[in-house]
Amino acid sequence: MSTLHPRLGQTAARFIQREHLLLIDGQWVAPRAGGRFEVEDPATGLLIAQVAEGQAVDIDLAVAAARRAFESGEWSRCKPADRTRLLLRLADLIEANGDELAQLEVMDNGKPLAFARRGIAGTAEMVRYMAGWATKLTGEAVPLSIPGQWHAYTVREAVGVVGQIIPWNFPLSMAIWKLAPALAAGCTVVLKPAEQTPLNALRLGELILEAGFPPGVVNIITGYGADAGAALAAHPGVDKVAFTGSTTTGKRIVQSALGNLKKVTLELGGKSPVFIFPDADLSAAIPGAANAIFFNSGQVCSAGSRLYVHRKIYERVVADIAAYGDRLQLGHGMEAGNDLGPLISKVQMERVQRYIDSGRESGATLASAPRQLSEQGYFVPPTVLADTDARMNVVQEEIFGPVLCAMPFDDDDLSAIAGLANDTEYGLFAGIWTQDIGKAHRLAARIRAGSVSVNAHMVNDPALPFGGFKQSGWGRERGREALELYTELKSVAINLGQA
Ligand code: NAP
Ligand code: MG
Repeated sequence: MSTLHPRLGQTAARFIQREHLLLIDGQWVAPRAGGRFEVEDPATGLLIAQVAEGQAVDIDLAVAAARRAFESGEWSRCKPADRTRLLLRLADLIEANGDELAQLEVMDNGKPLAFARRGIAGTAEMVRYMAGWATKLTGEAVPLSIPGQWHAYTVREAVGVVGQIIPWNFPLSMAIWKLAPALAAGCTVVLKPAEQTPLNALRLGELILEAGFPPGVVNIITGYGADAGAALAAHPGVDKVAFTGSTTTGKRIVQSALGNLKKVTLELGGKSPVFIFPDADLSAAIPGAANAIFFNSGQVCSAGSRLYVHRKIYERVVADIAAYGDRLQLGHGMEAGNDLGPLISKVQMERVQRYIDSGRESGATLASAPRQLSEQGYFVPPTVLADTDARMNVVQEEIFGPVLCAMPFDDDDLSAIAGLANDTEYGLFAGIWTQDIGKAHRLAARIRAGSVSVNAHMVNDPALPFGGFKQSGWGRERGREALELYTELKSVAINLGQA
């Protein structure tokens, strides 16, 4: 009997059931050691696919292919407009295959189809945005003051072969956020998707070949982090590693990168605060703050996981956010009407449950209504923990589940409020809900985080840089900054001789 959901389209079902190999040098090849690992549907816990287990030896082959492709110059030194054209073709293919990609995302990750569909449309836009930058990566002429006559200029060159390691929370978007700027800059890539969600990276590999990218420009190695991932991060033939995932693994990546001092960018965890002031439009702030934590079942690096509400409105706002969460319907992502899917795995589900238990044991109160969930799948209901405080580990550590820690604030001193925001090792995102725009700007200026949203949550636009202060990471994704981090800056000075 098929373990696939009956609503799954035939194209997606056929893809899932196909043999899945590694993409090296433009060819689909079996892993050298011949290993396989299994992929499950997190909404049922049933196994749906087998995928090649790439290991260090396969990483070697992929890096060698990426190196040959880079050195040949066919991609790294081709006309920038040719890179734009190919990336635009890829964006069109993503869009044309959007229904299938969205269904694969649901089966792999568990999220509801409507959200997956929106995410796929967003990835096509990200590719288009980055495609446009290929022709706009300019240097500048630099006037020199030293004696003599000079013409000096800077130029941006592709950094080289890039290793990219991504997580499972937004499988296709994470792949595209990494690939698109690297390719626009002229790099060649070895991508390792998360072991839980390899399917869409593999389907993307097919679309990349269909678009006509030269062999070796994009190589995709599915496998385990501790093996394939670690080999990629440590590889002496890799010029840069770009990673998204946990802060713990991020620190390991930095250590692995020491050998050849490859460049490193990291997009890591968060424990992002959301502030609701008494003058906020609560009809927007309540669903906004609820979605900031419950969207994608809280498996979002920028999730608004710490909620600070002014004491004047604390009781009401916390009760309303908990009630909002209670109304969200959990279930299989392929079934219409479900707002939330499962967590990604049994490990994650148990980890999140342990956090909920530990919060309650340390004195937090549960504002959410208890729920009976189906036995199948890795579901955790939206959970609001009230009366938490800064010393609790639920308030300090990234939970990565639909768990909100609510706390009142009664100080009107913005420095003290910013102190609450900054009382964490992370610095990824912060949300502010108030009608007083002056206050919003003053508070935004004091918060140590890479992104701040005012009267909105998680503003996702390809042009808006995204990334972390403190232990939330190094570098930025999206925007021109993402692209420049895939380049090296060269300065050239020419002695023009005597007049
Ligand atoms: P993770 O370990 O950081 O995994 C992210 C990626 O890194 C995966 O592709 C993983 O491969 C790979 N990896 C793991 N160990 C590696 C190593 N030593 N060298 C190179 N690559 C390695 O995250 P996780 O284990 O899936 O989740 C654990 C926690 O991380 C979550 O509970 C959450 O708190 C946090 N997390 C944060 C984000 C984010 O966007 N900030 C995303 C995901 C998870 P495998 O798939 O084989 O492990
Ligand atoms: Mg892991």
